[in-house]
Amino acid sequence: MNKVSLTPQLHTSEHILGQILDKMCNGFKTTSLEIRDDDVRYDFKVDTMPENVTKELLEAKVNAIISKNIPVEISEFSRQEAEEIGIDLSIVPRSVEVIRIVDIKGVNKQACAGEHVKNTSDISKFEIVKFVKKGSNSYQIVSKINSM
Ligand SMILES: [Zn+2]
Repeated sequence: MNKVSLTPQLHTSEHILGQILDKMCNGFKTTSLEIRDDDVRYDFKVDTMPENVTKELLEAKVNAIISKNIPVEISEFSRQEAEEIGIDLSIVPRSVEVIRIVDIKGVNKQACAGEHVKNTSDISKFEIVKFVKKGSNSYQIVSKINSM
């Protein structure tokens, strides 16, 4: 039996999670993102982690956005065009000339070459398995999709 790939759901939900963290935490910066078969390991840095940012709060915020049935659009831009509309290209290798932008309408727009859903309604429940502090300013979140 073929197992349905969870990658598009995992990828899209990480964009939403990153956006929420960026809004809530000063100096938020992704350090690494590893999409595995069943879960995602997300490492990031912040200047300070506000006390109200908990696993439960982040899950609730991501799921609230998912439940709004938001369309996800993919478009391609030149490097210069992408920079002009304010896309962060710091992790995109210089050799990449066509920038693929994933736009979760009204939520988050970022450069990404991965697979994504077409609408957030295609994502089942987002769940955080682990949220830990790894160093003075670094944290790790492991999350998965609970398809029930
Ligand atoms: Zn992505």
